[in-house]
Amino acid sequence: MSTSRRRFGRFALADGRRVFAAIEAGRAQILDAAPWQGGAPTGEVIGGVDDEGNPAPASGARRLAPASPAKILCVGRNYKAHASELGNEVPPEPLLFLKPSSSILDPEGAIELPPRSISERVDHEAEIGVIIGKSARRVSREDAAAHIFGYTLVGDITARDLQKKDGQWTRAKGMDTFCPVGPVVVTGLEAQALAITCRVNGEQRQHGTTADMIFSIADLIAYASRVMTLEVGDLLVTGTPSGVGPLAAGDSLEIAVAEIGTLRVSVVAAP
Ligand code: ZN
Repeated sequence: MSTSRRRFGRFALADGRRVFAAIEAGRAQILDAAPWQGGAPTGEVIGGVDDEGNPAPASGARRLAPASPAKILCVGRNYKAHASELGNEVPPEPLLFLKPSSSILDPEGAIELPPRSISERVDHEAEIGVIIGKSARRVSREDAAAHIFGYTLVGDITARDLQKKDGQWTRAKGMDTFCPVGPVVVTGLEAQALAITCRVNGEQRQHGTTADMIFSIADLIAYASRVMTLEVGDLLVTGTPSGVGPLAAGDSLEIAVAEIGTLRVSVVAAP
């Protein structure tokens, strides 16, 4: 929808408010609503904010996940090399599943590993997230781009053993903290030409390009919108390239796309 490249973040302010803001020229202009809900500048500014929405400590602001979706719609096995690495066939049509919005984790937050009695294997999956900018119901592939607001980064954290054991994926992918999102939402990107990298403790684990998706983002919007309405602000998560692997307490996880920034979270054992 937007052709110009703009950056948006979400912040917790010192007075307790949680606000969306447009990031430009080293500061964040606070908006009166989410940008995809038509949020307009209030005139208030958070000073000292970099391109990744990182506020200067003196601002008293804290960065939040830059999304508040009614639903998080995800796609499994959307890169051939990733389907193969887990011994799966490439699906003949998109494989959709949901994560609850309660699984969202802020940038710099901590993924909580469940007790080993519940799961012994929690994996990282680095993915591109799409924020829906215009309600989509039965839209064509050709019209899909008009329903996109912008792009962010998502970790589709997955308890791999539970994914196999349960036969469906709600528990495996739906735990609290299993959906880090951020650091910002960026508009106007060439979505099928983004290189995405995942690092654990600084070491590259995943690297891929959205050019290798089996189903393009336009395909996914067209397909999904025949099943359910994609509402403004919903988050569509588009699948992971190969190289998924386990996380351990103490790890640091980074998901990076040059045009968006780096989403950084840590990993801890559940209390
Ligand atoms: Zn995934």
